[in-house]
Amino acid sequence: MRPEDVIADKRRPYTGAEYIESLRDGREVYIDGERVADVTTHPAFRNSVRSIARLYDALHDPKSKNQLTCPTDTGSGGYTHRFFRVQRSRDELIAAQTATAWYKKAQETVPFMNHAIVNPPVDRHKPAEQSKDVFVSVDKEVDGGIIVSGAKVVATSAAITHYNFLGQSSKTATEDLDMSLMFIVPINAPGLKIFCRTSYERAAERYGSPFDYPLSSRFDENDAIFVLDKVFIPWEDVFIYRDPARVISFFVASGFMQGALFQGCTRFAVKLDFITGLLAKALRCTGGDEAKGNQVLLGEVVAWRHLFWSLSHAMVNNPAPWKGDALLPELNAVLSYRVFAPDAYPRIKDIVERTVTSGLIYLPSTVKDLSNPAIEPYLRQYVRGSHGIPYDERIKILKLLWDAIGTEFGVRHELYERNYAGGWEDIRTQTLAVAQRGGDMKAMEALVDECMADYDLNGWTASTWINP
Ligand SMILES: Cc1cc2nc3c(=O)[nH]c(=O)nc-3n(C[C@H](O)[C@H](O)[C@H](O)COP(=O)(O)OP(=O)(O)OC[C@H]3O[C@@H](n4cnc5c(N)ncnc54)[C@H](O)[C@@H]3O)c2cc1C
Repeated sequence: MRPEDVIADKRRPYTGAEYIESLRDGREVYIDGERVADVTTHPAFRNSVRSIARLYDALHDPKSKNQLTCPTDTGSGGYTHRFFRVQRSRDELIAAQTATAWYKKAQETVPFMNHAIVNPPVDRHKPAEQSKDVFVSVDKEVDGGIIVSGAKVVATSAAITHYNFLGQSSKTATEDLDMSLMFIVPINAPGLKIFCRTSYERAAERYGSPFDYPLSSRFDENDAIFVLDKVFIPWEDVFIYRDPARVISFFVASGFMQGALFQGCTRFAVKLDFITGLLAKALRCTGGDEAKGNQVLLGEVVAWRHLFWSLSHAMVNNPAPWKGDALLPELNAVLSYRVFAPDAYPRIKDIVERTVTSGLIYLPSTVKDLSNPAIEPYLRQYVRGSHGIPYDERIKILKLLWDAIGTEFGVRHELYERNYAGGWEDIRTQTLAVAQRGGDMKAMEALVDECMADYDLNGWTASTWINP
């Protein structure tokens, strides 16, 4: 069964219930030494699944539907998530665009897709083609498609998605034709295996309650080692095959970079809304809100938040023409987000730790302590908030902040933001390459030439200034 069969011909996104149902498809997911029978009921995934289901329900809720969805442009008369339809000024189909079958299918069902692009951190000291025992490559061609094997680095959320987009990072680009391929594969494809990392959702349930781990317990996007063992990929799901040049040009030319990072930047800006608001509340709990130094640093966090909203706005307000009448988010803003977010996040975490300090752990172990009469009166007195904030409100706020930045879930978020859109060197060199190729660097150097043309060995060259 393909994921879209669950809502065949409905020409609209899954509802939350349909999304949950669609994950019961025989997928091969492993955690804690066992194969997971059903990710929708397993304690490692079940609340994360429900958090995603809630997003699907928002696409149908009359309160949010109009804001989140728009009519499809496939001629089917259905509706889709706005992000799944190319932005353009006319209503025609993009008839000649490649991969239109997937464009239509994705638009009409809004599948939950993960991506696995980077090769596993193995043999970085060698050219990629020397590690075919690990990296994904073609085993052979067969009737109707190809057989592929190999592993990819952590595929975030893979266990609870419908499809994987398997791409290639340009940093490990190779001329080896068997490794120059990109495709989409359903998560229940025979031979596809997902080996999950520790589940923070499950740990939260074992060691505490939603009050103790409000984020870990429902928003854990389990990253997983992604393995293909002789998986059949039909031709219609193959986007690039034996074409190293297209692998290199794919990210910018296909619009993947602009689209994915527009989403990434907006996601990041919303995350900073949340952390900024939470930090302000936490400082009121400790009374640190009135300290000048803390106000200075909270102001810096607000500025970071403004910066990423500004980049997101710049992406949409100055779009670049693409194919036909299609538009893409502005690339320089995309690249700036990509370089600065990985530095912004650790800095913001640093500010939280400098300003809230011991408040982050001056906390009872779990919510059960609050109902133990032997210690509850002490907690009420000694762990009360400042400015009249009651003790349970203070504990709730600070546990939420700790879950955002300090628990295993929180620390994973920092690692995630640092690596979200590529390695720290690649994101910089690729920004330089775009400036060099697109003419920005030439224009900047021309400005310097203009300045240097005003003077030479003999003094000023123009009449504006008076020579000594
Ligand atoms: C939480 C998390 C979730 C992720 N989710 C996904 C996902 O869903 N899909 C996906 O595709 N990827 C995912 N990734 C991977 C992410 O894209 C990469 O971590 C990121 O691109 C950096 O690549 P890398 O880890 O291979 O580091 P590397 O590129 O190996 O770099 C590690 C360090 O070694 C240096 N280095 C490496 N090779 C060389 C060399 N040959 N010469 C000199 N220096 C070298 C680098 O400069 C760097 O300092 C995720 C990562 C994390 C941490």
